[in-house]
Amino acid sequence: MSTKAIADWIYTRSPIWAQNWACTRHGRKLQRLRYNAEFYELLAWLEQSQWWSRDQLREYQEARLRHLIRHAFESVPYYRRLMDDRGLGPNDIQTIDDLGKLPILTKDIVRRNGDDMVSRAVRSRDTVSAHTGGTTGTGLTFRRSLSALHFQWAVWWRHRSRFGIELYQPHANFSGHSVVPLGQHSPPFWRENRAMKQTYVSLYHMTQANMPAYVDMLERRTFKYYSGFPSGLFLLADYLRTIDHKLARPPDLIITGAESLLPFQIEAFNEWIGAPVTEQYGLAEGCANISQCEQGNFHVDMEFAIVEPKPVGVAEEGRLCKVIGTSLHNYATPFIRYDTGDIATFSDESCPCGRKGDVVKYIDGRVESYLITPEGRRVGRMGNCFKDLINIRECQLVQHNPRELLVKVVKESGYTDADERHLITALRSRLGESLDLQIHYVERIPRTKSGKFRAVVSTIISPDLPGARQTAEYITAGAATRSDTQPTSRSQVPD
Ligand SMILES: [Zn+2]
Repeated sequence: MSTKAIADWIYTRSPIWAQNWACTRHGRKLQRLRYNAEFYELLAWLEQSQWWSRDQLREYQEARLRHLIRHAFESVPYYRRLMDDRGLGPNDIQTIDDLGKLPILTKDIVRRNGDDMVSRAVRSRDTVSAHTGGTTGTGLTFRRSLSALHFQWAVWWRHRSRFGIELYQPHANFSGHSVVPLGQHSPPFWRENRAMKQTYVSLYHMTQANMPAYVDMLERRTFKYYSGFPSGLFLLADYLRTIDHKLARPPDLIITGAESLLPFQIEAFNEWIGAPVTEQYGLAEGCANISQCEQGNFHVDMEFAIVEPKPVGVAEEGRLCKVIGTSLHNYATPFIRYDTGDIATFSDESCPCGRKGDVVKYIDGRVESYLITPEGRRVGRMGNCFKDLINIRECQLVQHNPRELLVKVVKESGYTDADERHLITALRSRLGESLDLQIHYVERIPRTKSGKFRAVVSTIISPDLPGARQTAEYITAGAATRSDTQPTSRSQVPD
């Protein structure tokens, strides 16, 4: 048994007060790691730099880039080899346009090169081990410098401060923390991290029978904000709708991440939880971060990373682009031109808030979250389909070939044949008539290992999409049958 397995075994059998103590102790460790003097300095600096001109932002990025490239060339075996093979020296990459001289970096390349991706110049005590989500075999472990970690948390807290949220305000976190043993059948279905005034709310116990206990807890206590996965928060909002009860003590704000936030979820949060929502996009690799502003647009956090939008299609409100990112601060394992596998809608409009960072309209989600019709049409943001289907608790669309679509549905108690007809009409209106729809009624829809819900799961290799190779390898690895466990690059929502 590993140390972690032993610790888990002891935790599961401990009384609740001891579990709260363990969560608080863990919280104290995170607090020391994340929020030191460097973090506060960076946060103060970022509060200023978000108002810089485009030229200033670009100048800053390119100065950091030159430094990073030299560092990678001199101390990271993988980059030394790569640049030598191409006859490139550090002086050949001076600007963002020059970045194109280097190939795209994939998760697979990082994994294959292992230790050769790690800088010889960074002391290991100045780094922490980091890993991305994903299933066994698809996750990624790498080193992250402490400075990069502080920078990322400062960027995340800058986003929150735009909405009046400050460190150490009481909040409830609805992400994939497995802090309540699965065998527990009575409340409390939450645990306390008192060090950070955070209540970890279990998503794994949110059954209809247990929901009244959750609502009772949320009504008795005062939380400044909720954070978490949209799918988890939606279980709460949807339950409130079924009992026709609006929270009497709503939080000031809901902050989501890790999964795409869908319009019907925003509506449900506004109406039943009674709070506005904001979203941010980030990932453990630290090679891109995109945060919403007060005007509802997103801005690329340009001080943190260089994001190269790689066009893959056109959307109503802008260019549909793959997010390719270069971390400007992680000197331990430099990620240069990393393919995140995520798609966002980039816009050329300027934002009324006055920030000059690149504008993004939507975080669309994974490459795998698109469906394909037999005619070859690619359809995204399918979540909109379920907006009016209130008798469906959850729905997942699974596609293994362009002719068929498997529709997994968890019914609400009032579900009738009419709801099924509405569902089919809604799907047909987006996908057309030629796709064969197979509706399967299920008790529950499994989450990914890290607790995320995937509304759309596609295992189709689409050669015109960059990243297709990665998907192909995933299928070859025999994982395609486990439709609920697609790899994902988006980090958990910052807790
Ligand atoms: Zn803005």
